[in-house]
Amino acid sequence: MLQTPEAQESIESVSEDSTLGSVNVSLIYNQEQALLTVRLIQARDLVARDFSGTADPYARLCLLPNRRVQLQSKVHRKTLCPEFEEEFIFEVTPADLNHSKLQILLLDYDQFSRDECIGEAVISLEHVDLSEKVVLWKGISPYDKEKREEVRAIGFLKYSGTSVLSLIARGV
Ligand code: CA
Repeated sequence: MLQTPEAQESIESVSEDSTLGSVNVSLIYNQEQALLTVRLIQARDLVARDFSGTADPYARLCLLPNRRVQLQSKVHRKTLCPEFEEEFIFEVTPADLNHSKLQILLLDYDQFSRDECIGEAVISLEHVDLSEKVVLWKGISPYDKEKREEVRAIGFLKYSGTSVLSLIARGV
């Protein structure tokens, strides 16, 4: 994925296993303000999670390993190719950025049951020059059971809505 500085300005295709679909993001880092801006552009070919053969995807983003701030997108109803077009801003020092990974968790919203995890995309930010905008596609991998329990535990947050979540996140 993020290999050479030359490749960063172009849209890259990620050739890893993408049977669970892939997600398209752009990243840019403002070193003076210590702000990482993640634009979640879209996802493609997500796996169906509902009986109707579709899903209601939304994304939850955080920086690993600390998970201090979690930001959540809007839910997109009945689609396997959601056009998110949402921006998420993380406050992170240059030193921390070098040890961080961006985790994008894709979940399926369910009105009457717990949300199911569709998968995750993890992008390592180590040694990456993010002073210029980087646009990339990342394959979605299965999300393991142990972590899924954690998702369920905070699943109630979906009822709070995106704006409230953002405020919570900024106040941390
Ligand atoms: Ca659903």
